[in-house]
Amino acid sequence: MPKIDCKFLKQTTNTIVNSTGQVWPCCYFGVHEHESIEQEQPIFKEYQKNKDKYNLNNHTLKEILNSEWFTKTLPDSWKDDKMTARQCKRWCTEGHDPAQLRIKIDE
Ligand code: SF4
Repeated sequence: MPKIDCKFLKQTTNTIVNSTGQVWPCCYFGVHEHESIEQEQPIFKEYQKNKDKYNLNNHTLKEILNSEWFTKTLPDSWKDDKMTARQCKRWCTEGHDPAQLRIKIDE
């Protein structure tokens, strides 16, 4: 199974706060917050179970980033192909970064 090299954990992408105060690890997740097809993914379902815990109206950013979903559920999801989000596979598979490929092509 390909290894996920998470830009959120490496801090090479921005953590996203949506207009409602909802915190997501990266834009790859945040922009899809309201898309019903994404809600079928296990990692989104886990997030939705406790989504109030990941909202700045209820907790500080530090508390949210140290919460179980961000520190355990998300990283653990990369150990099981069925649990790994489409976004993580597409954008953060080790050795295959579409963003970097695009930059190289444009040079
Ligand atoms: S898409 Fe997944 S692996 Fe990539 S930065 Fe976001 S949470 Fe991390």
